[in-house]
Amino acid sequence: MQKLICSSCQKEFALADKRVVCECGGLLDLEQPLEDLKKLDLKKIFDDRLGSRELPDASGVWRYRELLFPSPDKGRPGGVISRFEGNTRLYHSEKISAEIGSDVFFKHEGENPSASFKDRGMTAAVTAGAGIGCRNFVCASTGNTSASLASYCSHAGLNGIVVIPEGKIAYGKLSQALAFGAKVLQVKGNFDAAMNLVNELGRKFDPDNPGESVYVLNSVNPFRIEGQKTIVLEILQQLNWEAPDWIVLPAGNLGNTSAFGKAISEAFELGLIKKKPRLAAVQATGANPFFKYFESGWKEFAAVEDPETIATAIKIGNPQSYLRARKAIEATDGVVLEASEDEILDAKATIDGAGIGCEPASACSLAGIRQLVKSGAIKKGQKVVGVLTGHLLKDPDATINYHLGKLDGIEAKKANQPVEIEASVDAFFAAIR
Ligand SMILES: [Zn+2]
Repeated sequence: MQKLICSSCQKEFALADKRVVCECGGLLDLEQPLEDLKKLDLKKIFDDRLGSRELPDASGVWRYRELLFPSPDKGRPGGVISRFEGNTRLYHSEKISAEIGSDVFFKHEGENPSASFKDRGMTAAVTAGAGIGCRNFVCASTGNTSASLASYCSHAGLNGIVVIPEGKIAYGKLSQALAFGAKVLQVKGNFDAAMNLVNELGRKFDPDNPGESVYVLNSVNPFRIEGQKTIVLEILQQLNWEAPDWIVLPAGNLGNTSAFGKAISEAFELGLIKKKPRLAAVQATGANPFFKYFESGWKEFAAVEDPETIATAIKIGNPQSYLRARKAIEATDGVVLEASEDEILDAKATIDGAGIGCEPASACSLAGIRQLVKSGAIKKGQKVVGVLTGHLLKDPDATINYHLGKLDGIEAKKANQPVEIEASVDAFFAAIR
């Protein structure tokens, strides 16, 4: 039987208990017994589903449903709430591979329906909530999570609610949530006040009356982690179940780091792969509590007050999932790195310039790969996958200001500025030579 275990007090819950967080406020982890799954030919099951045009098989999340909860096979009426998420491309970049001296691939999670990896966790968690009768779904977020929540709730005819702090809001980041039709509530106070409200709504969840309760979709939700595992499963399938040597990913709230560790361990234990790829989680220097925790030999975790980085998707000073993520790094002989603003933006310009493109936080993957090559941890000829978590168009201001040289303190070595010319053929050829 699948069960939920509290990471703080170890109390266990059945899925039928309809819990998102523990009574003590601790995070719940889904524990999946793998014994029964070992009897299945999972590679063949997953590969056979690749040709399907219909849900759930055609979703890049639900294709792997034996390793997820809730599985539509186990009887959610009406099936899954899905936008055919996942199915994102794995690009082999000749240009960047030549620079690095290894085989470098990029898994582009910005190619999901709402343009970030969040859709994978969202389809799992919204399906789980709807499956127990919930109608109201909430998160505190000004970024990619709110866009994804709004999309999935509206798609399924459910109430999506986004809680944000009052005051100065970067509306560019909120445009998707507004457009998809979520109810956006600006609460008095800062982001912590918004988050506290959501946590309180979570504690007040009434399992006997889910329709009137509010289901919390912030990263504390254990089913989001389950959905995000499929990033790794899809990478492995795209590489024909030959594990890469390294998977390098940006790290903010550490949900992906946790999910990746879980997916790698499960895939290894089930015999889907013969070796475990090593994980490298890369933080921005201005928002690096997990990096410092790693550097201290896991002795001391301390939040970063007032985190600051241009990589807004990972601008998080107090990640909730740091214990889960530590497990993932330890289980994969992994490392935690930090990248400066210069390194992030230079890596972004390189990924963009390779015709692939990503939001700033995603570029931490290449910044990390470069560091690992320099330190000798990535060896010549090894196979490396960098994960890009969001689409280039998620943060157009950062991109434009880089290329126009308007970012303070950043040396924009790869700036690609527009050139003004006379409207003549001579001037045209002079300019393109
Ligand atoms: Zn507990």
